[in-house]
Amino acid sequence: MRKIVYHLLLFVTIISCKEEKPIGWIDNERLTHREAKDWLSLGGDHMMQHYSPLNQITKKNVKDLGYAWEYDASTIIGNVPRGLEATPIVVDGIMYTSGAWGAVYALDAKTGNQLWIYKPQVDASYGRRTCCDVVNRGIAVWEGKVYIGTLDGYLVCLNAENGSVLWSKDTFTDRTKAYTITSPPQVAGSIVMIGNSGGEYGVRGYVTAYDLKSGEEKWRFWIVPGDPANGYESEEMEMAAKTWDPNSHWQSGMGGTAWGESAYDPELNLLYVGTGNSTPYPIWFRSPAGGDNLFLSSILAINPDNGKLVWHYQTTPGEIWDYTATQNIVLADVDINAKPRKILMMAPKNGFFYVLDRVSGELISAENYTKVNWASHVDLKTGRPVLTENGQWYKDKPRLVVPYLGGGHVWQPMSFNPTTGLVYIPERAVPQVFKSFDTYQWLPDVDNTNLDYGNMFKFKKNVADQIKSAEDTLRSESLLAWNPVTQKVAWKFPDGGPDGGIMSTPDLVFQGTRTGYFNVHDARTGEKLKSIFTGTGIMAGATTYSIDGEQYVAVMAGYGGAETSAYLPDGVVFQYENKTRIIAFKLGGGETPIPPKKTPIETPAPPDTKIKTELLAKGATLYDFYCFICHGNFGGKHLSQHPDLSKLTPAKHMVFNDILLKGILSQNGMANFSNSLSEEDVEAIHQYLLKQQTESYKKEKAAKQ
Ligand code: CA
Repeated sequence: MRKIVYHLLLFVTIISCKEEKPIGWIDNERLTHREAKDWLSLGGDHMMQHYSPLNQITKKNVKDLGYAWEYDASTIIGNVPRGLEATPIVVDGIMYTSGAWGAVYALDAKTGNQLWIYKPQVDASYGRRTCCDVVNRGIAVWEGKVYIGTLDGYLVCLNAENGSVLWSKDTFTDRTKAYTITSPPQVAGSIVMIGNSGGEYGVRGYVTAYDLKSGEEKWRFWIVPGDPANGYESEEMEMAAKTWDPNSHWQSGMGGTAWGESAYDPELNLLYVGTGNSTPYPIWFRSPAGGDNLFLSSILAINPDNGKLVWHYQTTPGEIWDYTATQNIVLADVDINAKPRKILMMAPKNGFFYVLDRVSGELISAENYTKVNWASHVDLKTGRPVLTENGQWYKDKPRLVVPYLGGGHVWQPMSFNPTTGLVYIPERAVPQVFKSFDTYQWLPDVDNTNLDYGNMFKFKKNVADQIKSAEDTLRSESLLAWNPVTQKVAWKFPDGGPDGGIMSTPDLVFQGTRTGYFNVHDARTGEKLKSIFTGTGIMAGATTYSIDGEQYVAVMAGYGGAETSAYLPDGVVFQYENKTRIIAFKLGGGETPIPPKKTPIETPAPPDTKIKTELLAKGATLYDFYCFICHGNFGGKHLSQHPDLSKLTPAKHMVFNDILLKGILSQNGMANFSNSLSEEDVEAIHQYLLKQQTESYKKEKAAKQ
């Protein structure tokens, strides 16, 4: 009897221990043995496959998929809605996810009701330091805590129950450089790792690890070396420096920033990190003698206990095309040549699909998953791409290259489906003219790629001799199903590609599009089974979970960011208000609410002043360099979610200089440019805009009459 009571007590104790686990409890045990109802990491579980075994929603009943709820995740700083890119995490019925600037939302995943919100206090000037909007790619939830990297560089640990700040660490080594954080943290063993962004701006990439509980800094792994004259931080940097010209342009930082989804294998205790592109892109300005330039565009396997490199694989030696290897890392255990292999997969920007042995880093296979003309193939013996004529330096002449700088696949997650054995990739084939300027100088807080963006798509003018057929300049996009074992296309859905990340379940593939649809495809054939119009551009990958026996699919909808085809006219963001929100769907759900249509803004009458024509050329050049990336072009062709600057009100004209040089609209998200532009520069830009406004105004008036 005593024994029974003892066991009963033990049993009750175990039960109550389980119940006592704090809210948001995810640990290695739960992550490696995920219950189907939960979605515990950005990729679902530790394999980061963006796959769920839930199968209540089937090929047969998916026609009944409809709206369950939505949550307004609109802008928290400024008045322009920003892009959303994170995949929500769902644990025990609570959804945790992040938004612009590094905001965190905790919601009841059944109703969308907000439990708490974390709003970081970020100086809007950091918006100037992003190539591709003030986005955030997600959080980590671990043992009752939520980890977020804010745009201005803090790793913040929140209490998962109420969102209160437990600790906050400044992860930046140099605040005079244009570092930002847009990437998700990654938990590995007893640490949480965070990288950063800024590869286009001229920063030196690194990742830092902090103790999960105390936030104490444990180690920092530099991705590219600094000036060897200052010595090396680690033996890895001493090794990497041998692949750089000692007279490299060290002031440029060299890039290599880690801003994508990482992964951690708890069994091997290896942390996998993908690294970014170079700064400046042309190696003849960066590392004039050439070299592989480690660890740009590489996949790194790091021991999280000490921050030491275990193995590395460089996808694009001597990178000159913005070919990051920051695309999402997916782990899988598959049979290759009748042998079970632990693999790591990535479809980086450079167009090749890499299958590596994740224990040793051995290259198993690499084939192009999209159109590639810079290399003929990857030599499996050397592990190196074999360059073609198009892949030579664009130093002496412009070169026609595919994939373009946005890549054959960018940050939007691909999904591996262990049931079909296929990987689903938001693929695109876009050719580009690579042309650099003749000289290079590093400047603070601006794009330091030294690429001539104005000539990117001027094929006939620049590379007529390299065009062999009309197809060489065509762009295409697809939802691509790829067999990673045979390295071959399984199927291709041509118009399914525009932008959205992928999630899959045993029989289905889910993808949102910039054109405002949320689509569901047959995982085996690609057939589109369901298409829901949301009126909101969708870039993020979806998540799926189950509550009270009911399966939900949720996705963050909201558009913004240059690397996401933001300037393509078919974006729904140019027709409807960019209503940034989380939308959840379920079987038997209703109609999805559509945001209001955008109404065209009439051009206000320009101030009655004489335009200083002698400043127009300078103004145009400055506009292209500083303003275009956010504000885009003018008039009927205004393809940007930021204001059309040819439609300034009289009041804005009055304070034009103060907006740029004193930052008086920084609360709206408009950065201060006083460290880049002089009063004369601002005057030239203003005159150029006045000219545009005068022309637009006249045109509109004439059309009315
Ligand atoms: Ca880049």
